[in-house]
Amino acid sequence: MTDFAATRRAFHLPRGITYLDGNSLGPMPVAARDRVARMMSDEWSEMLITGWNKAGWYVQPRKVGDRIARLIGAGPGQVVMGDTLSIKVFQALSAAMALRPGRRVILSDNGNFPSDLYVAEGLARAMRAELRVVAPEEVEAAITPDLAVLMLTEVDYRTGRRHDMAGLTARAHDAGALALWDLAHSAGAVDVDLMGADADFAVGCTYKYLNGGPGAPAFIWTHPRHADAAQPILQGWMGHDAPFAFDLGYRPAPGIERMRVGTPPVIALTALDAALDVWDGVSLADLRARSIELTEAFIKGVEAACPEVALNSPRDPARRGSQVSFRHPQGYAVMQALIAAGVVGDFRAPDVLRFGFAPLYNDLDDVGRAVDTLARILRDGSWDDERFRQRAAVT
Ligand SMILES: *Cc1c(COP(=O)(O)O)cnc(C)c1O
Repeated sequence: MTDFAATRRAFHLPRGITYLDGNSLGPMPVAARDRVARMMSDEWSEMLITGWNKAGWYVQPRKVGDRIARLIGAGPGQVVMGDTLSIKVFQALSAAMALRPGRRVILSDNGNFPSDLYVAEGLARAMRAELRVVAPEEVEAAITPDLAVLMLTEVDYRTGRRHDMAGLTARAHDAGALALWDLAHSAGAVDVDLMGADADFAVGCTYKYLNGGPGAPAFIWTHPRHADAAQPILQGWMGHDAPFAFDLGYRPAPGIERMRVGTPPVIALTALDAALDVWDGVSLADLRARSIELTEAFIKGVEAACPEVALNSPRDPARRGSQVSFRHPQGYAVMQALIAAGVVGDFRAPDVLRFGFAPLYNDLDDVGRAVDTLARILRDGSWDDERFRQRAAVT
């Protein structure tokens, strides 16, 4: 059995705060602070340029990728780190499109995160392709024989609705298309199984449930059947077969290394590597069971105590990720009042109160405090105050 009391102790959780926003930014693993400090004092400062070899900075994107692979049902040598998720979406989508020459349709859904859709829209313009966006429940019926790539985010960032990755991938393959999955709200939250689902490409970020810190680098995965055929469009020198030959022409590196672009963010990767230590000994089956326990308890508690809000997530846990959202017409002010009272979730336009449950550090006490505080604020109306209506730049 996974020791979740021990994984919780691995984090710095500020006193007096119930943190239910790890789906946006995970809290700091204590070891990450110490590891980054050590990297600064022993590696950057003393080794200088030799750190690329001596401290292994150069191979870090692959080594850290291998640690993430275990959490997403992928094998060693299949994942590489770097850049932001938006860039990784661009790389995976462009490579998938190039593997389906003659087809020009990208299919996604309107529950996808806007950045993924913006990237797809821009790429479609450049490639003279068409982006079709349908409702999440209409995706299956919209898979047509002209489809090149099905591009979906497995878990919806607002509702927590979880797509059937294996089923939709199989439908896409039946139509001759490829499937690209964004795991931003899945990796570290649910039991992802990319090889089992026979997906083609996957991408994800590491600052949400993987707790790598603000701006932590993203990951990209290619199924081994495509790894040596996928043509990178962003042809950076670090993805070259021989970066230090400084050839004038590009020749992709074998396998997933070709999805590297430029110099890796070594300090950020060091923090992430330390954050991934917390996952050693965590079983994905236990993770999923605990996530369901927490989200079920939260839904039950809120529905019993807060008639003012409406569930905005699937009721069936099998169709849900590790987050739950509720709607309230004055959702922004309610969430600001909740945060002021020490329960941190977040607000998503237009009226969604969103709560992420990270099995590594959230427990049933957190659920109880969140339910009680939300019920009190709604009952006494304290959210209805001018200071809770001021919108900040980041919500
Ligand atoms: C969080 C998130 C992003 C953010 O992309 P960045 O480039 O890392 O800012 C993109 N897509 C999805 C689905 C997300 O959930």
